[in-house]
Amino acid sequence: MSENNVNITIANRLATAHDKISDAAKKADRHGEQISLVAVSKTKPSTDIEAAYESGQRTFGENYVQELTEKAQQLSSLSDLCWHFIGPVQSNKTALIAKYANWVDSVDRIKIARRLNSHCEELNKRLNVLIQVNISDSNTKSGIPLKDVESFAKEIQQFKNLTVRGLMAIPDEYHDKEKQKAEFEQLNTCFLALKHQYQSVDTLSLGMTNDMEAAILSGSTMIRLGTAIFGPRTD
Ligand SMILES: *Cc1c(COP(=O)(O)O)cnc(C)c1O
Repeated sequence: MSENNVNITIANRLATAHDKISDAAKKADRHGEQISLVAVSKTKPSTDIEAAYESGQRTFGENYVQELTEKAQQLSSLSDLCWHFIGPVQSNKTALIAKYANWVDSVDRIKIARRLNSHCEELNKRLNVLIQVNISDSNTKSGIPLKDVESFAKEIQQFKNLTVRGLMAIPDEYHDKEKQKAEFEQLNTCFLALKHQYQSVDTLSLGMTNDMEAAILSGSTMIRLGTAIFGPRTD
């Protein structure tokens, strides 16, 4: 496809995604505008991000530090871009993440939070963070168990350059919709309790291309769409 066709495709996919978000929101008696969209641009070129930007998208998610750094540098003239780092955080990469990200959605270790905080102190910057929760049975996934969220949030509160905005989860693919619903609801209950406790908490980031509707029905306030916006990946 020519670059122009790619741009039209991205614009169309974004419009479709917004329609789906409003439809799901309506079903849940909510408004589409209450649900924010992170466009996950991992493995895709900066030109794709520019195309989405031209269609009004400002918030993008990256999984790999190298890619975040390169794209943030290439696109530095777009000053209102908002970058979410959504991948596993290695402690030797926290300086770059603190420098280029506006949000880190995948915080699940205090050591990482402490390092991000001290880099942000040097940069005189505040970073929004989400606590990553593991709601699936598989132990291989990143994230802390739901039962530890309260004490973890309390510890992160002490870091003055981090703002705790809420929770993030990457669920397994569900074949059992009842089980999915039950687990999403548990996560939402935990989110609402945290929100009640901390003024800064307003975000539940749950839902990707395949489960966005279920996530919105269960109270998600933010979804992360890669494939639905930029097309299939080869990773
Ligand atoms: C890749 C990725 C996404 C986007 O996934 P799609 O299924 O392509 O929408 C969302 N969140 C995280 C954490 C990811 O790594």
